[in-house]
Amino acid sequence: CASDDSGTDAGADSGGTESTDDSGSGDAATGKVGVILPDTKSSARWETADAKYLAEAFDAAGVEYDIQNAQGDKTQFQTIADQMITSGVNVLMIVNLDSGSGKAVLSKAQSQGIATIDYDRLTLGGGADYYVSFDNTAVGTLQGEGLEKCLTDAGKDTANIAYLNGSPTDNNATLFKQGAEEALKAKEDAGDYTRVADQAVPDWDNQQAGTIFEQMFTDNGGKIDGVLAANDGLGNAAIAILKKNGVNGSVPVTGQDATDQGLQNILAGDQCMTVYKAVKQEADAASALAVGLAQGEDVSDQATGTVTDTETSEDVASVLLVPQAITFDNVKDVIADGYTTKENVCTAE
Ligand code: BGC
Repeated sequence: CASDDSGTDAGADSGGTESTDDSGSGDAATGKVGVILPDTKSSARWETADAKYLAEAFDAAGVEYDIQNAQGDKTQFQTIADQMITSGVNVLMIVNLDSGSGKAVLSKAQSQGIATIDYDRLTLGGGADYYVSFDNTAVGTLQGEGLEKCLTDAGKDTANIAYLNGSPTDNNATLFKQGAEEALKAKEDAGDYTRVADQAVPDWDNQQAGTIFEQMFTDNGGKIDGVLAANDGLGNAAIAILKKNGVNGSVPVTGQDATDQGLQNILAGDQCMTVYKAVKQEADAASALAVGLAQGEDVSDQATGTVTDTETSEDVASVLLVPQAITFDNVKDVIADGYTTKENVCTAE
């Protein structure tokens, strides 16, 4: 595969704080939507997919919008929110950096009558008007099932498993882990699989993930047979350590987000699977709600269910989409869906 591995983006790729103040039709009646994305490092998706698809959807609807990225900085997140509120947004959509700081931002907006949407991550205790995401427990289930299948295919009926979990402050990470544990429960209960390591990676930091995984590997004298990594970035960090020890490819590693790097790792045989979440569907559902709310419409019929906030026990009107497992055989589905290109993934070997 001739591609470079530098993670070249498929789409919008400013990488920096991006403020797209697009005019649309611009009169007061159409309102304005503010979107705050979390960072550019925990996953390539936020800039290459979410920012791009949301902007496209708002452009198509002709609604004014401002999409910014907090670059992993909670103070910056708050500052952006304040600026958006001052600039007159009447809908605020956020991907929180943690529930506490997200809740502060949502409360401020709510106190000013601004409609709020939790995008992808539920803000516990935040009381957003709507929540749009994927079925995150199902994501974890696909990862657990995928890992078991890869181990079974490799003839490993017994295995030492390392759990490399997402950020402890991301409600999604909790759900991913729950789903995976459910899928692996039978094997773990039977004693076929032994969980030899289980650690969360703060802020999904890929670099820390490498350090954490290297420690896991060393602590277990290299006897790790499978890695349940919560996303492609964490998976890639684990793969780098496995490579260093010459065992990449024989130790299945899971992932999530169908990033170019994740797909490349799958095609190279270093990663067992990833989970594709069609971000365009998510961005379309969230922007449809946002545009309706911005224009003062009743959008309640767009919610397809509810999700219970485990902190308040209150139900949040939600749209939850269906994730898809991707292995070597169906990497092409991600390309066919337009999420990336063949060139980016370099399928031609
Ligand atoms: C998202 C994942 C992403 C992770 C790190 C999660 O909340 O659902 O898609 O990989 O955050 O950004």
